[in-house]
Amino acid sequence: MNFTKPRVLFLLMISIGFCTTASAKPDKVDGMNVPFGRIPQEIVNNHYPRSYFPGTEKLGAEEMRITALGTGMPNQSPSNVAACFLVELGNGEAFLFDLGTGSTDRLAPLEGDFSRLNKVFVSHLHTDHVGDLSALWVGGWIQGRYEPLHVYGPSGSAPELGTKHHVDHIREAWAWDVTSRAGTLPNAGGELVAHEFDFSKTQVVYSENGVEITSFPAIHIRDGSVSYRLNWKGLSFVFGGDSVPNKWFEKEAKGADVVVHESFFTPEQWMEIAGFPYKEAYWVTSKIHTPPEAFGKLMSMVEPRMAVAYHYWNHRDVEFDIYERIRSTYDGPLTLADDLTVINLTKDNIEVREVVINHDSWPQGTSREWDTAPRGEPATSLMSKWLEDGKLEGVVPPPKQPME
Ligand SMILES: [Zn+2]
Ligand SMILES: [Zn+2]
Repeated sequence: MNFTKPRVLFLLMISIGFCTTASAKPDKVDGMNVPFGRIPQEIVNNHYPRSYFPGTEKLGAEEMRITALGTGMPNQSPSNVAACFLVELGNGEAFLFDLGTGSTDRLAPLEGDFSRLNKVFVSHLHTDHVGDLSALWVGGWIQGRYEPLHVYGPSGSAPELGTKHHVDHIREAWAWDVTSRAGTLPNAGGELVAHEFDFSKTQVVYSENGVEITSFPAIHIRDGSVSYRLNWKGLSFVFGGDSVPNKWFEKEAKGADVVVHESFFTPEQWMEIAGFPYKEAYWVTSKIHTPPEAFGKLMSMVEPRMAVAYHYWNHRDVEFDIYERIRSTYDGPLTLADDLTVINLTKDNIEVREVVINHDSWPQGTSREWDTAPRGEPATSLMSKWLEDGKLEGVVPPPKQPME
């Protein structure tokens, strides 16, 4: 039995007397920006530390790191925010699969390079899978992205139900925000680009630098939900968006290395937790989602090197029941993912651990590339003169350096 009950470890660091005034630019290690003052170490002979401290480990040339950033529900619990998995490759690339509400809170303390976090693959347009797109778009731009944020996602049954429409309207909805930052931040980092594809086809939707990502249909309430498989250097990661067990998933995930799929609450749990009547509870848990026994049956068909269950609150009052129900139909390698569960994958090893985060951590500082990326005119003329004239003079300290 390979059961991992992840534990979120919290490192509380109390810093007394900040005295730095210089900007903490990242260091360059092997051409990558890493947090200031931190040197990532190589892992030899699979000798991983018990916990993963962000930025301290160098990925091998043929290694994948998968971090669960959100494993919960649209109605969030402090322990489990909504769906998001980060995949980092040994070639320096990073891919986000879904970006549910709250997930960017988990992303920041990883202290990663936000200029690399520029590709999101969304499974469908429920808030618990895309709710933090605007947070990464603007937050990531401030924190180091100087190129566009690319959002890959499915079409729907009509143009207004597809990813492009959703993304275009995020851009419109945040016009006040984005135009107000012009000039201060690099131009291109403020761009948000949709790559919509036909949800009904099994097809390669991304192919660059040896990374191939295939989309295939998922069955979830209405047209327009997909799952993904990422292949790179003989390693494979499958991300199931919300779905009932389906034939496309069985085929595309078959024999893959790390296979993530939802495993929802049982109807009885959902009645108790959410107060739903049985009919509605059964509909939600078993008609549009995958209950634990069904997750187990599906994984018995798929036979992954590691099955990963998510999409419930991993609380003690439900997790043992969920575990037992999965085990009634599946006896292979299993991880019940929690927020900040991290999986290192190589051809000969799978390591499942927890990330240790510092609640007071600062995200990695912006890079030299961000400093020098082209900018437009500063947003100095966006307010009315009468409003500008309302400033109290002599209250804000004057600059200590020349401003030109
Ligand atoms: Zn959904
Ligand atoms: Zn969902």
